[in-house]
Amino acid sequence: MKPELVLTPLMSGLIRDVLAVPERLSAMVDALGSPLNIVVPEQITANVAEYRAVYDRRRLSGEVYFAHKANRSSALIRELAAGECGVDVASLGELRHVLAAGFSGDRIMATGPKDTEFLWLAARVGAVVNADSRAELRELAAIATRFGLPPVRVMIRLSAFDSPGVPILSRPSRFGVHARELADVLDTLDEHRAVLRLLGVSYHLDTTGIEEKALALEGCLLAMHEALGRGFAPTAIDIGGGFGVNYLADRGEWERYTTELGTAVLGLRPPMTWQNHGYGLRAEAGTLRGALGVYPAYRDTAGARYLDELLDRESVSLERSFATLLLENLYDLYTEPGRALADQCGLTLARIAEVRTTHSGDPLVRLAANSRDISAEEHAVLMDPVLLPSRPGTPTGVYLAGNLCLEDDLITRRQVTLPRPPEPGDLLAFVNTAGYFMDFAADHALMQPIARTVAVHRAAGGWSWCLDEQYWPVKGNRS
Ligand SMILES: *Cc1c(COP(=O)(O)O)cnc(C)c1O
Repeated sequence: MKPELVLTPLMSGLIRDVLAVPERLSAMVDALGSPLNIVVPEQITANVAEYRAVYDRRRLSGEVYFAHKANRSSALIRELAAGECGVDVASLGELRHVLAAGFSGDRIMATGPKDTEFLWLAARVGAVVNADSRAELRELAAIATRFGLPPVRVMIRLSAFDSPGVPILSRPSRFGVHARELADVLDTLDEHRAVLRLLGVSYHLDTTGIEEKALALEGCLLAMHEALGRGFAPTAIDIGGGFGVNYLADRGEWERYTTELGTAVLGLRPPMTWQNHGYGLRAEAGTLRGALGVYPAYRDTAGARYLDELLDRESVSLERSFATLLLENLYDLYTEPGRALADQCGLTLARIAEVRTTHSGDPLVRLAANSRDISAEEHAVLMDPVLLPSRPGTPTGVYLAGNLCLEDDLITRRQVTLPRPPEPGDLLAFVNTAGYFMDFAADHALMQPIARTVAVHRAAGGWSWCLDEQYWPVKGNRS
């Protein structure tokens, strides 16, 4: 075994229980095809509860909105509709989906750039419209006026905050309005007071960097102050998503792996990746250059704990913790976790179609699935799949290729160490794919099938399953 090559995924109890019955999984793949996605609705409810616990412990009011774009499953959305959580939709299709799943308009937040139809339906059902631009607010006001709709609750999405003290990099964003343009946006809202009601301000930063988020949250607090000064009565700050997930079971494995990768790129050990791909690292005259461009797959602080940590941070200019500032001002805190609420909520099964050796002598495993079906690599998340069924054997390093006639259709560019030599007909289980990796990019390239999705839930004697579209919360084991 080459322990430096192993990246053991973190797995919840129910995921382990599901993987413990490989014959059953194999029969499901026979019937429904490979790849096959499995979602775990009860897990998303448990994840929401962790967020709610942070709010409760700190006596903060507000809502958690699941960012729908992380997963298309109906089962997950219906399960959330049965609970306390809200949902964040970023397209007309997602809005229609959540309405059909049982969400009432008041529990829905519409984000992202919006076309006219999306704006109309969001306003019609009473969703909060998280405005991406001034033009969008004007169009929304025109729609509400023309159709005689009740005042629409709106938030202003801000981006590019200026740092008051130490310069902190605030990444430019394509979305939202620059914090400096707030005054103009408030003018627009002023003109449309009869039809638009300012609920608050928001940001969403696609980063794991807590400094950047603290700066944005401070910017939002200042923006609330400015809006209050202009005679508005905003009540909520929405801090978006980006709380992240810890994918790996072992910090040591992650540290060893990333260190060894640098060594391999320098040519000081055999390659660990396809054509010695460096994930951003490269060797220049015997020196390692570049930066490792992968997701920090092992994380101490992710999900609800990341929220907790952010709330504990002190605002530089306001000199108190964000939790205290929110409480003192009686502001509601809104969050929009996507990936973090989908943590441990699903996995993707793929059948091994062929095992061969390439011209260069590398063992290559071709799957009945491709890199769009299992897109962890595209999102730069490195973790090992689980080989089923488990049998004793000699650990074997292999490359995993997909079913598209494309040179670059590799499920991962890493060499993956499996606990025994794989054989055609075996299954690989890619765990923790529910957040963005299972169906975000899946398509019909080469007319290959797209994965079906099934929902599993605990039942007498283990677990039970049904097609995703046939899952309704009354099926689950709610107490
Ligand atoms: C994508 C997105 C989210 C969710 O981000 P995660 O990183 O999955 O938590 C939340 N809010 C908005 C506006 C988004 O675009």
